[in-house]
Amino acid sequence: MIYADNAATTKLAGEAFEAMRPFLLEEYANPSQPYSFSRPAKKALAEARATISACIGAAPEEIFFTSGGTESDNWALKGSAMVNGAQGTIITTAFEHHAVLHSCAALEQSGRHIAYLTPTEEGYITPQHLQEKLGADTFLVSVMLANNELGTIQPIKELCALTHSKGALFHTDAVQAIGHVPVDVHDLGVDLLAASAHKFNGPKGIGFLYRRKGTKLLPFADGGAQEAGMRAGTENVAAIVGMAAALKANHEAMRENAQHVAALEQKLVALLDAAGIAYRRNGGAKKLPGLLSLSFPGADGEAILHRLDLRGICVSTGSACNSKSTEISHVLKAINLQESYARGTIRISLGKDNSEEDVTIIAQELKKIFKG
Ligand code: PLP
Repeated sequence: MIYADNAATTKLAGEAFEAMRPFLLEEYANPSQPYSFSRPAKKALAEARATISACIGAAPEEIFFTSGGTESDNWALKGSAMVNGAQGTIITTAFEHHAVLHSCAALEQSGRHIAYLTPTEEGYITPQHLQEKLGADTFLVSVMLANNELGTIQPIKELCALTHSKGALFHTDAVQAIGHVPVDVHDLGVDLLAASAHKFNGPKGIGFLYRRKGTKLLPFADGGAQEAGMRAGTENVAAIVGMAAALKANHEAMRENAQHVAALEQKLVALLDAAGIAYRRNGGAKKLPGLLSLSFPGADGEAILHRLDLRGICVSTGSACNSKSTEISHVLKAINLQESYARGTIRISLGKDNSEEDVTIIAQELKKIFKG
């Protein structure tokens, strides 16, 4: 099997599994209890918070553990809308993940106005785009750090500075970026940031929300005093510990991993070019290393996915078939990709465990599909 869908999820790091093991077996105490059996779990939570905060330049008390990217995005948007903008406007983009888009749709139903920025055809939101939409009633701007289908990295620092100059808050969905490219919350200036462990070789169903100290936010869940009273519920200690171990490992090897996947990406592109296959690459130059959005004109992305699957290769598509038609993804629609290209789009997302042999086989199989 060749796994080339690392933007969908990643393999659990060995370090993460080993770090989790004691908290699944022996150290099962509830971290909130006062007796000494709870001490290792309590200490592990504090250490995980410190490790994670150090990786993104935050303070430990600015990190709140959640069940993943979807929850972090929902919390950031709905939690700040509840306390900051009774009737105001949220500005977001047309190519956000559904965790953001559907949260915005829910807020729209409860009276908030949502304005959508359209990315350039290369997949970027520019400060000029934002400038045009920012108004006196804007209380929140939400722009993803890296797009999950294109890999394009947005100019968050500039967008955030512009947003703050109008007195609004800035949230970024950094789910695809954390653990893969450097992210420093102070350098970026963001108020809220969402992350998910399974995108950086941590376990599934765990993530975090960064909230800049002093940023008003409604608690996600009411109940016990966990997470400083902001998200009640007994913590998933093992998953939190695994998330911290995975982030630390990826953070330490970030440059090396990025160079490795970028080299694989270059090799794959060179092999496709040498094979004379007609295709276009979507997205511009400033992007996540290893993520390729490729459109084969006149082809069917879903059919390519299944052909590759038959050969044991996992990739994703930019369109999804139902029984009657092929639905083009909202991201490809947002960058205004011509329909014949959009329908024939696949996403190959390489990870640190992929090899030169993997990309050689992927290129050979694509050649067989397109050139026979
Ligand atoms: N945001 C982005 C950009 C994503 O790519 C994903 C997952 O695909 C999510 C949010 C949702 O994260 P999770 O799967 O942890 O809920």
